[in-house]
Amino acid sequence: MLKDSVVTRTGQLWKLLLAVLLMLVGSFAPLWPATGLDWLSGSLVAVAGFAGGALLIRCPGCGQRWFWAALTRPEEYGPLFGKPDCPACKRSF
Ligand SMILES: [Zn+2]
Repeated sequence: MLKDSVVTRTGQLWKLLLAVLLMLVGSFAPLWPATGLDWLSGSLVAVAGFAGGALLIRCPGCGQRWFWAALTRPEEYGPLFGKPDCPACKRSF
């Protein structure tokens, strides 16, 4: 699914994976004290992942913030991660 997505084709898949990873680590690592993350630092890690994804994953053509748009308008941007063109400017990658 992600192989043909605009995110992969524009070389931004690592940003998406990093954002998701940070959100997961920040949310669940505080459950285990051995990780050394308390709830405050865990939340900061999760927020950093979210903000990074929302701000940095964008269309090289029109600058549309895809991750943010997908979160705020899922019905419109849900297929974003499976299609090779930008939902905003229709540019193909
Ligand atoms: Zn675009």
